[in-house]
Amino acid sequence: MSVQRVGDITIDKVVDLAGMGFVTKQLLPDLEPDVLEANADWLCPDHWNREKNRFNMSIHSWVVRNGRQTILIDTCLGNDKERPDRPFWHRRQGDFLQQLRAVGVQPEDVTHVCCTHLHVDHVGWNTQLKDGRWVPTFPNAKYLFGRTEYAHWAEEQKKPGANVGDGAFLDSVVPIVDAGLAVMVDKDYDFDRAITLEEFPGHTPGSLVIGLQSKGEEAHFIGDIMHHPIQVYRPGWSSQFCWDPKMSASSRRRVLELCVERKSLLLPAHFGASGCGHIHPHQGNFRIDWAKG
Ligand SMILES: [Zn+2]
Repeated sequence: MSVQRVGDITIDKVVDLAGMGFVTKQLLPDLEPDVLEANADWLCPDHWNREKNRFNMSIHSWVVRNGRQTILIDTCLGNDKERPDRPFWHRRQGDFLQQLRAVGVQPEDVTHVCCTHLHVDHVGWNTQLKDGRWVPTFPNAKYLFGRTEYAHWAEEQKKPGANVGDGAFLDSVVPIVDAGLAVMVDKDYDFDRAITLEEFPGHTPGSLVIGLQSKGEEAHFIGDIMHHPIQVYRPGWSSQFCWDPKMSASSRRRVLELCVERKSLLLPAHFGASGCGHIHPHQGNFRIDWAKG
């Protein structure tokens, strides 16, 4: 758990699942082992298990409070979901909601849920199982989904035999739409003057970056435009989960440049340790100064 302050806004990290994840080259097919070795001093142990050659990662939500709104950015895996092909995610019984309460947020307090994109590990807590039905976990929230993103996956789900997001589209997205709580957003959605939404496609067709401003300070929530901090140092390396790896690499560089230019705090969805930091130019690419947890 970590808390950050951006102007008058507080940002808490609430973790659903963290620990050892993918084999390095499995996540990042273009990875050059020498680059990991050259950065081992800061990658180990928070971000890389060198002995097993696997990345250490986290699946977390960011809880944003500005005095008027309580905004949950991405909703991780969820409990009780049928994910038979992903043993660690299958019928989970995690303590995410207790952790949310521990930072002072009851599910009823959440005013907005923003999903940066609609992959299985970003929508799970949108719903919970009650009396055999998937119902919204945050009954008073508006759930913001990118219009392009939703349209793409809704179309995919229509294909014969489709099971979009290992079932997540049907158990964690559609019930929100059916409950009338979904709002399909574009760049010009009038959320709040201090909050911006912008599409950075590539990881998925409509991946959103959510920007916040307060008292001259800024933060950008980038979802999975980066999965691992080594991609700050090598933004050309896209993950095996990217829908269009080339486009993803170009969006990644663009978001890193934006964070440098605006001195903005970068908050991705899967970095370990404090999970966020400030970006600086470095040897033709970038480096990260970690925010304290
Ligand atoms: Zn993800």
